[in-house]
Amino acid sequence: NRERIMQSERLNVVSELAASVSHEMRNPLTVTSGFLQLLNLSKNLSPEEKGYVELSLLELNRAEKIISDYLSFAKPQSESRVYSNLMAECEYTKNVILPYATIHKVAVEFSFNNPLSTHYDSNEMQQCLINLYKNAIEAMDGVDDAVLSIAVFASGQNIIITIRDTGVGMTKDEISRLGKPYYSTKADGTGLGMVMAYNTINKLKGRIEVTSEKGKGTVFRIIIPA
Ligand code: ADP
Ligand code: MG
Repeated sequence: NRERIMQSERLNVVSELAASVSHEMRNPLTVTSGFLQLLNLSKNLSPEEKGYVELSLLELNRAEKIISDYLSFAKPQSESRVYSNLMAECEYTKNVILPYATIHKVAVEFSFNNPLSTHYDSNEMQQCLINLYKNAIEAMDGVDDAVLSIAVFASGQNIIITIRDTGVGMTKDEISRLGKPYYSTKADGTGLGMVMAYNTINKLKGRIEVTSEKGKGTVFRIIIPA
């Protein structure tokens, strides 16, 4: 329970910061998005290049959403609530992360077999999954035969999502720091990805279990009641 109180205090700190960050970030995003839209009108783009521009625009749009919705995630109501089995979110985010995995020489395995549905915020769930996938890929930087395995299935009345990597792994101590705002071991890390992930799953009355072995890899197991 004390852990829960600490967690909610951490979230308050982040929410306050988020409001000012959102404000500062909106302009650069709008400018970048504007130029990409201009570029997208060019007749000299190959279909492949056009695809890149369009995906960039989609992702900028996502960034904009993170800022207005997720970064101010103390906000209780949201417009993208759905009742579904997570299929759309899992597939979409897996596709979004593929180029990032390829650049990092990480193979991605994906399996989906979940008949159960629940209520959730679609945008928020996408962002939560992307945060976890990105961490897994980043944990495998320079690792041979790197594999990210994502599995979604049902167990009793729970929806289970497992995200497994063959990366650097964590000690017990490192695991206990996950979800603490700004805790990051990366040079350019924000230390906000896990805060967001825990918050998203907490809201669904679910939980995240972490199993990890230093030098071997990590499994994040998300358990969401249907
Ligand atoms: P960031 O990715 O910006 O560092 P996060 O909140 O997403 O911030 O993650 C916090 C820290 O948790 C990471 O810097 C890393 O040390 C650790 N971590 C998260 N996921 C993994 C993983 N799959 N394997 C190893 N370490 C991880
Ligand atoms: Mg991260």
